[in-house]
Amino acid sequence: MNSAMSKKKVVVIGGGAAGMMAAGRAAESGADVLLLEKMERPGKKVLISGNMRCNLSNARGFEEFIGMYGKNGKFLYSSLRRFSRNDLLNFFALQGLKTLVEPDGRIFPASGRSSEVLAVLLQYMSQNGVKIETESPVREIKTSGGHVTTVYTTRSSYGADAVILATGGASYPQTGSAGDGYKMASALGHSIIKLRPALVPLVTEGSKARDLQGISLKGVRITSFACKAEDIDTSLIPHKDCGRGIAGRKVRLPLIESRTGDVIFTHFGLSGPAVLLMSLAVVDALDQGFVAATIDLIPQKGHKHAEEELQGTLSSNGSRYVQNILEDLVPAKIAARILAEAGVSGRTRANQVTALQRENIIRTLKDFRLDVKGSRPLAEAMVTAGGICLDEVDPRTMQSKLIKGLYFCGEVLDIDADTGGFNLQAAFSMGYLAGDSAAKHD
Ligand SMILES: Cc1cc2nc3c(=O)[nH]c(=O)nc-3n(C[C@H](O)[C@H](O)[C@H](O)COP(=O)(O)OP(=O)(O)OC[C@H]3O[C@@H](n4cnc5c(N)ncnc54)[C@H](O)[C@@H]3O)c2cc1C
Repeated sequence: MNSAMSKKKVVVIGGGAAGMMAAGRAAESGADVLLLEKMERPGKKVLISGNMRCNLSNARGFEEFIGMYGKNGKFLYSSLRRFSRNDLLNFFALQGLKTLVEPDGRIFPASGRSSEVLAVLLQYMSQNGVKIETESPVREIKTSGGHVTTVYTTRSSYGADAVILATGGASYPQTGSAGDGYKMASALGHSIIKLRPALVPLVTEGSKARDLQGISLKGVRITSFACKAEDIDTSLIPHKDCGRGIAGRKVRLPLIESRTGDVIFTHFGLSGPAVLLMSLAVVDALDQGFVAATIDLIPQKGHKHAEEELQGTLSSNGSRYVQNILEDLVPAKIAARILAEAGVSGRTRANQVTALQRENIIRTLKDFRLDVKGSRPLAEAMVTAGGICLDEVDPRTMQSKLIKGLYFCGEVLDIDADTGGFNLQAAFSMGYLAGDSAAKHD
């Protein structure tokens, strides 16, 4: 048999970060590789990622890195060791792409352009002879005797020794990831863990958030609870932030998560980095019952300290309106809302504010509550949580434990992480391992 005849035929379904890396690596390892992409070109999500800057990985240490994926993180031990962050950075460097680490640990292309990341992936595939067919949506993977045999698009069929399913999640379907992979895997007997939106804005009850829409709060602390707003017990708010990826004590209900960061009021509820980070835990808690959030607008000041400071400011500005004094602390619209909730007229002169009113103002500033009734839909989430059950996939090879020759990588699996470059690193690492294994499949 000559070498061309003995080449493994690998078909990769989906040209996202995971599929492109898998295809390039399988071809580099000697396979004859065909990448089938549904859209008119591969890599649409890579292009929009990180606000078009593509946060491709993170500088955190290994254990902390794994922790960012929650309880499913251990599945990534093999792939993150086989193709680590440093391997990824070397890979980009060898292909001529410089990267830089930001002070918070996030890693971006030095040019700040996601298009350069995509260009490297396309170059890697072309250097290794990957054939790409775009506008080729795959609809079915056929098997015989428990082994993959053929991949069917709407137009053609392709024989395969190994198939890598890399169709992504079900969020941002305009980029091509519309959940097709779940149907194909499920048709072959794989279990799909319930899909949920992650890194998604939250929808709140009533008009409270809507009245404040457009306001962006910097460095506030938001804490979510599994109860109604009126039942929040603020004594349960921990001293430090807590949630997925933050080492520390175990969180117990009714406390869900607590995050410090920016929060934005919108016409439907809450958005901003701190909200997105806690959103998956909130979505899961909403499945069980009520959820409410409380925002501490002045987290850097303890209750007593804040009250003393306010008392000092009020007495040295006796003739000013309390509304104007509060506007030095928080945006005007919020100041008005805080005073309304505290039962104080904004036109009260500072020297007429009573001790009880002062106490109420501080309490409301440190405990601004909203009932959460849901999240924005999966299509608007940055990441899909849930997906192909990890118990049915061998993490050392990414091969299905049910169907021989079938491999998975990327967001189609039940793995997701917080923002920071972890989702793309996982896609690249799993893609590399899947490509490597598929090329060696026998
Ligand atoms: C707005 C936004 C910003 C983000 N920013 C970051 C970031 O900065 N850093 C980070 O780590 N993560 C980020 N993420 C998440 C990250 O982009 C994804 O987790 C990652 O790209 C998933 O890669 P994937 O290859 O598994 O899937 P995808 O990138 O979704 O690729 C799947 C591919 O499969 C194709 N496909 C689907 N069905 C079929 C079919 N039937 N036949 C053929 N092809 C098919 C799709 O068209 C698509 O090209 C962001 C996500 C979003 C939405």
